[in-house]
Amino acid sequence: MFEKTKREYQKKTIPRRGKKEREIEGTMSLGYAEKLSYIEDVGEVGMKEFFDPPLVLQEKIERLAAMVKKSKHLVVFTGAGISTSSGIPDFRGPKGIWTLQREGKALPQASLPFHRAMPSMTHMALVELEKAGILKFVISQNVDGLHLRSGIPREKLAELHGNSFMETCPSCGAEYIRDFEVETIGLKETSRHCAKANCKRKLRDTVLDWEDALPQREMSSAEKHCKMADLVLCLGTSLQITPACNLPLKSLRGGGKIAIVNLQRTPKDGKASLVIHGLVDKVVAGVMNSLNLEIHPFIRIDFVQIILNKNISGDERFINWTLRVASVHGQKAPLPFVKSIEVTFLDEEKYKAAVLEDQPFLLKRRTGREREFEIRLRINFTGGCGCPFTEISIPFDREVILTESPDYNREAILQDLRDTATQDSTCGRNAACWRKNNVAARSETTTYAIVTNVVSYPKLLKAHEAESTGGIGDLKSWTECFGTTIRRKRSKV
Ligand SMILES: [Zn+2]
Ligand SMILES: [Zn+2]
Repeated sequence: MFEKTKREYQKKTIPRRGKKEREIEGTMSLGYAEKLSYIEDVGEVGMKEFFDPPLVLQEKIERLAAMVKKSKHLVVFTGAGISTSSGIPDFRGPKGIWTLQREGKALPQASLPFHRAMPSMTHMALVELEKAGILKFVISQNVDGLHLRSGIPREKLAELHGNSFMETCPSCGAEYIRDFEVETIGLKETSRHCAKANCKRKLRDTVLDWEDALPQREMSSAEKHCKMADLVLCLGTSLQITPACNLPLKSLRGGGKIAIVNLQRTPKDGKASLVIHGLVDKVVAGVMNSLNLEIHPFIRIDFVQIILNKNISGDERFINWTLRVASVHGQKAPLPFVKSIEVTFLDEEKYKAAVLEDQPFLLKRRTGREREFEIRLRINFTGGCGCPFTEISIPFDREVILTESPDYNREAILQDLRDTATQDSTCGRNAACWRKNNVAARSETTTYAIVTNVVSYPKLLKAHEAESTGGIGDLKSWTECFGTTIRRKRSKV
C-alpha cells in the first residue's frame, strides 16, 4: 500500500525539475574562477585534445592497472579534468575558462551550482583505492572540495590551491568545512570566527589568488609523498602551473614512475612511463574493472538546525513561539541547499499554513496552551540531483522546555541513513542526530541530517566494447536517483 501511495503521490505532486530550470540554476556560480584576479599570462590555453584509439586505450588501461596493482606507494595528482564530468568547467580545454576568456567570450557555464557539484566516478574510485590500501596520498590542484566530500581522509590529501568550502583559523589552525561556498578568495578574513572556546579568531578562506604562495603544510606533505612514491598517477591535469606541476617529478630520483591520463599533451609527457589520452572517468573505471574493485555510491548528507523558542504569555493562556531553520555553521550562515520551507500543522487544521521563502527561515506564532499538535516542515531543496524535498515533523507539546536533552548516537544514525539511501537510491530521508534543550534560553535545538544526493556509478564497458555500442553511457544517467522518500510515519523526536 505504501509503495503505491508513494508512487502516485510522486506522480501527482512532485514534478521533476526540467532541464531548463536546472540550467538557470546552473548559471548562478562558476565557483572561484569568477573571483580570481585577471592576469595576462595564464600559460597555454585552447589546447588540442587527443583521444587514443579504442584498442590502444584498452591496452594502456590494462598496463596502468598492472602498474597500480604492483605499486607499494601510489600517489595520485589531480587537476580540473577529473571534475569536468561533475559539471565544473576546466581551464585550458577548448571550452575552458581561460580559453574562452582569452577569446573574449562569455565564461563557460557550470551545470550545477558549485556547492551542489557531485563527485565524478574518478573521485569515488580514488576513495575505493584508498580503502583498499592501494592509494596512499592524493594531491589536488582543484578547489572544488570534491575529494574531501567524496570521502578521502583529510590526512591523506593535500589541496595545493585551497578549498572553496574550507575556512581556517590563522591562530590555532582549526579547519572548518562548510556546505556553502566561502565568500572570498585570496586568504582573506571571512565573516565567521573560530569555534574553539579559547580562540574565537576571525577565520580566513583557503583559496589562493594568483600571487599567493602555496601553503607550506600542504606542499611539504605533498613533497614527502611524491619522494616516497613508486607511482605518481596524474589525472586530468595539463601540468602547467608551477611549482605544483614539478611535484610528480620528485618520485623519479627514488626510482618511481609517472603515469599521465589527460586529453591534452603536457610538458611532462617525456618523463612519464605511460601517457594515456582518454577521458579520465573512462580510464579509471577501466582500471577499477581490471582490479575487480567496485565503486560505491556517493551519499551526500546535509545538516540543518531547527530551533524552537517558547514563551508563555503574561496571562498564561498562550505560548508565543518562534521556529527557526538555520545552518549548523551559525545562524547567520547561508543554507544553500534549502530553497523554501512549507509549514503545516497536523492535528490542528485551523492553524494557518505558511511558506517561508527567504533566509533566515523564521516563523512566529501564538497558540493556545491546551493544544498539542505537530508542526510539519517540508524543506524544498535547491538544484542538485533533482530530488525535490524532505519532510520533518516536530511534536509541539504543552511542556515549555524539557530539561533533559536526548542523547543520539550520531555516527550510528548517519550510517543508517547512508545504508538506507544506498539500498533505496533515494534522497530525502532525514533523522534527528543531535539535540540540546536550553531551559534558560527557553529553546530546543535539534540538528537533522538529511540525505540530499545519491549518485550511483555503474560498471563501465571495456573501452573497445563501449565504442561499438556508441559510448560509455550517458553521464546524466549516472546521477539519477529515484526521488524523495515520503515518510508517512510520524517521527518521534
Ligand atoms: Zn582558532
Ligand atoms: Zn536525489
